[in-house]
This record gives sequence, C-alpha cells and structure tokens, in this order.
Amino acid sequence: PVDIHQTRIWVRAITAAMDQNKDRLTQLDSAIGDADHGVNMQRGFTAVAAALDGYEPAGVGDVLVKTGTTLISSVGGAAGPLYGTFFRAVGKQLTGPVAEPAQLAAAFEAGLAGVQKLGAAVPGDKTMVDALAPALAAFGAAIEDGQDVGVAAERAATAAEAGAQETIALQARKGRASYLGPRSIGHQDPGATSTALVFRALAEALTS
Ligand code: ADP
Ligand code: MG
Ligand code: MG
Repeated sequence: PVDIHQTRIWVRAITAAMDQNKDRLTQLDSAIGDADHGVNMQRGFTAVAAALDGYEPAGVGDVLVKTGTTLISSVGGAAGPLYGTFFRAVGKQLTGPVAEPAQLAAAFEAGLAGVQKLGAAVPGDKTMVDALAPALAAFGAAIEDGQDVGVAAERAATAAEAGAQETIALQARKGRASYLGPRSIGHQDPGATSTALVFRALAEALTS
C-alpha cells in the first residue's frame, strides 16, 4: 500500500522534476504552443509545495486533492485545470491513511475520466491523454498481475514516456497546437511530456 508520506514524496519529486525540466517543456511548447508550459508547471508545483508545507492530511487523498486545488488556482493555462482535475479526482477516491494498489489503479482511472470530461481529448489527439492513458493501462495491468506498486509505477512511467514520444507523429486535435493543423506534426506534445515526468516521479517515490 501507499501511505501519506510516500504520497508527499511523490508530489515533491514532481516539483523537482518540473524545476529541472522547465526549459525543456517550454521549448516544446514554443514549437507548437505559446512557450509557457514549463513556466506553468513549475509555477504550479512550486505553489503546491508551499501549500503542502505544514499541511496535515488525514488521508492519502487529501494530499492529492490539495495538490489539484492548488494547481487550478495557480496555473493559468490549459494544463493547470486539467492536471488539477486529475489530482482532485484521484484524491477524492482515496479516503484512507493508506491506498491499496487496486484502489490506486481505480483512482487513477477516475483521474483520467476527469481529464477527458473536462478537455474532451481522446488518445491520438496529441495531448497529455496520450501519455496518461497508456500509463494507467500499464499500471492497472501490473497490479492485476500481482506486481507491487513500485513495479507498476515503473511500467507506468515507461509507458508514459513511450506515449509522449509517439505524439511526435500525431497531428494535434485539441488545445493550442490544434490551431497549427498539420504543422503540429513532428513535435512532441509538451503536456504528454510533463505527464511522463509525473509518472517517472511516482516510480522514484515508490521504489526509493
Ligand atoms: P496553454 O496551452 O493554455 O498555454 P499549457 O502550455 O500549460 O497551456 O499546456 C499545454 C498542454 O495541455 C498541451 O501540450 C496538451 O498536452 C494539454 N492540453 C491542451 N488542451 C487539452 C485538452 N483539451 N485535453 C487534454 N490535454 C490538453
Ligand atoms: Mg502553453
Ligand atoms: Mg498559455
């Protein structure tokens, strides 16, 4: 199971990853968007770190709901509300002091459903969903297969990274990049790339 402490470590690892990858994410967004994705994610997760500092959650889900609420209120771009919705929807499912692997897998699916309800993107639209959907499929399959959460998270991260890579060949059908039409082809989606960082951070948190 995953406890509150590990959940905090996950979120802290995301903050570190967004700090480290800020320029890369912004560069990706400069090719097919408005060059602010790295700035948005870094600002958001810096605010999350501050909000969690001194916060005393009763359950695993509280950490994630707080994370999501903070992202929604601190990030202006599309990604803020989308990631915010993801973390809030995941957190709302996890009311206990620990989350069992199968609960976590189900909560992640609720997070994806929230993102898709808000943004209406499906796999293949060249968005964060192209990393999120395969990551969660890999996570769920590993858990069903009896693997521990660390192994499941490693597989999720690898699947998210592959999904992000595969967005290079896609034409964007959602978000700012869709305004470019076929000219969006040949560039990796920034949001799918940050989603891969989110799952790599989870793998680090659960295997350290
Ligand atoms: P903005 O486009 O408002 O500047 P960001 O640059 O922070 O916001 O985030 C852009 C990313 O958001 C895209 O790379 C894409 O992955 C994601 N995105 C945009 N629109 C959607 C959507 N409708 N559904 C899912 N993800 C989306
Ligand atoms: Mg942008
Ligand atoms: Mg913007």
